[in-house]
Amino acid sequence: HAKEAGRNGHRFFTEQMNRRVVEHLTMETQLRRALENNEFVLHYQPQMDLGEGTIVGVEALIRWNSREHGLVSPARFIPVAEESGLIVPIGAWVLREACRQAREWQVAGIDPFVMAVNLSAVQFRHHDLINSVINALVLSDLDSQWLELELTESILIQDAEATLEAIRRLKSLGIKLSVDDFGTGYSSLTYLKRFSVDKLKIDQSFVRDLARDPEDAAIVRAIIQMAHSLRLRTIAEGVETEELASLLRVFHCDEIQGYWLARPMPAREMEDFLRSHQTRSVAGRQGVLL
Ligand code: C2E
Ligand code: MG
Ligand code: MG
Ligand code: MG
Repeated sequence: HAKEAGRNGHRFFTEQMNRRVVEHLTMETQLRRALENNEFVLHYQPQMDLGEGTIVGVEALIRWNSREHGLVSPARFIPVAEESGLIVPIGAWVLREACRQAREWQVAGIDPFVMAVNLSAVQFRHHDLINSVINALVLSDLDSQWLELELTESILIQDAEATLEAIRRLKSLGIKLSVDDFGTGYSSLTYLKRFSVDKLKIDQSFVRDLARDPEDAAIVRAIIQMAHSLRLRTIAEGVETEELASLLRVFHCDEIQGYWLARPMPAREMEDFLRSHQTRSVAGRQGVLL
């Protein structure tokens, strides 16, 4: 019996693997088509300066408006795009579209802010990255000071020489760099010294229970203090409540991003949000924090 069960277990396992491979290949084909058919859209989420109460940045977050699946979250398709290499053309599109939109908002009279774009490790290692960044800036006529690239810790610990060179070239364009999901990757902090990044994005896993969990609070305070001694700015991700926003302000965190301020939204809604927050500070308008 045991032998039979083992064989069945094995067959079940390979069937499962087969199904995953097929699903993966199907999605790869669909992603390729999605790029040609313009099925990707960017949603935008604001970032607020806790001292000024103003919107100082916006993160561009990709969505796939699929005919078959509806609105697909990046958590589902970015891994497939990375493994297939499709993240390179998709990422180049994200850069162009985010820069184009940022410039469009500036021309429409909205106060300028930094547009933050996520970069995956595959894109970072690709030889064409610097060209697609320059291309996006030139095509959109956006000044480089308004573009920020969000890198992950995994990018920064690989192949130190190549990474150093790529970062030097990106920084020489005048754009900003931040470290996304900070604290979740690797404990090595040496890269912070070696690479000239501008900002740490404190991962939401440390922020979520900040008000109740003294260990999370200790970690967040330590990250903020360290960042400030290295003259880096800090932004807390996943800020869902006013309580968290107030606490982070007490901790001298520079900026916040999260559902409390706003969920990621389409460009049209974002424009209304930006207009309504231009003259008055967000904090003042929401009647808190001041
Ligand atoms: P991320 O860059 O860390 O983006 C933050 C994620 O947290 C977003 O999920 C955002 O919607 C979500 N979020 C924001 N505020 C809150 C909050 O208060 N509470 C909670 N629970 N979540 C919040 P999203 O949009 O699903 O994106 C997931 C990830 O997909 C991103 O994580 C990023 O790693 C990746 N991604 C998104 N767009 C792109 C892109 O254009 N290129 C690449 N390479 N990756 C992308
Ligand atoms: Mg990000
Ligand atoms: Mg993040
Ligand atoms: Mg993330």
